Amino acid sequence: MIPVNRPLLDGNEKRYLCECIETEWISSEGPFVKRLESGFGALSGRKHGIAVCNGSVALDLALAALRIGPGDEVVLPSFTIISCAAAIVRAGATPVLVDCQQDTWNMDPELVAAKITPRTKAIMAVHIYGLPVDMDPILELAKRHKLFVIEDAAEQHGQTYKGRKVGSFGDITTASFYPNKHITTGEGGMVLTDDDELAARCRDLRNLCFDKERRFIHEELGWNFRMSNLQAAVGVAQLERIDAFLLKKREIGRWYEELLGGHPLLGLPVARTDYAENIYWVYGVVLNDSVPFDAREAIARLKARGVGARHFFWPMHEQPVFRKMGLFAGERYPVSERLARRGLYLPSGLGNSKEEVQASAQALKEILS
Ligand SMILES: *Cc1c(COP(=O)(O)O)cnc(C)c1O
Repeated sequence: MIPVNRPLLDGNEKRYLCECIETEWISSEGPFVKRLESGFGALSGRKHGIAVCNGSVALDLALAALRIGPGDEVVLPSFTIISCAAAIVRAGATPVLVDCQQDTWNMDPELVAAKITPRTKAIMAVHIYGLPVDMDPILELAKRHKLFVIEDAAEQHGQTYKGRKVGSFGDITTASFYPNKHITTGEGGMVLTDDDELAARCRDLRNLCFDKERRFIHEELGWNFRMSNLQAAVGVAQLERIDAFLLKKREIGRWYEELLGGHPLLGLPVARTDYAENIYWVYGVVLNDSVPFDAREAIARLKARGVGARHFFWPMHEQPVFRKMGLFAGERYPVSERLARRGLYLPSGLGNSKEEVQASAQALKEILS
């Protein structure tokens, strides 16, 4: 079976992990956590990095730091991972959805303005798969309506938008270091910001809001969202090779492009827009409407041929959990709905070989013929 993702752990990961054991620094107090915070902060063009235990809680932390809560609305794409909408709902705020663009699969900035109300507090811009959100119109809208911008950069470490670093946009950024992200710590995440006060607040909220002078006195409720030194050690080793990782991801993208380009039954990712070059977090394909089966069936047929493919995100407005809460009733976002039903992604992890890519593309062509 060709796995959909193989992480690449052949740098200093083992050495740094052993260092943690030998020095007995294994908790969040260890030195690798700060090294990862400053290193990943620099990669993202941010002054502060606050390491946390995963990318989902990074979103919870970002919303809490911005004091977004009951009565507030946050605009986000329907086509994303549940972590984004879940964090908004858990904060007591209301998620407000927009559809995505046909070609980049990212939130369509032209649809955001119509969703802004006097209750809107923030726009959550989530960079999807390989291309960033078209940020300028989002930033412009946010400025005009005095809204916060939360940037979810989980999928695009080291990406740029018009030459500016992804991860540096808006008031606060979140990242994930899950094993399929460009840089992994096994489980892990980070909140990034340039604002000193927001950063201090994130550090407090991450660590149970212990009082600085009287440790077990709490003025506010926080969480234990800390990252361990063990996780950070892996992340520091990964970060050393981010340039090579990005080259490899783009190489995988080119391999697939060469193998599948021009196929009459497939929509392939856009290699570049006028603001960014695809980073291929995952290599996704979309089945044309003339293919007589959907992504689910395609994934099953690929599996039978030994290829691990995965579904695209399922839109937020079609999630049973949100429907049961009375959210998004009767709302339709046709581009997201189609991507969910026709889209799948192929083995495209940093550790996947050229042979695996070739075999995966071949299997896909076979099930389509
Ligand atoms: C992976 C991901 C997350 C969640 O990160 P975890 O570390 O898995 O909790 C959040 N947002 C986006 C866009 C992601 O791709």
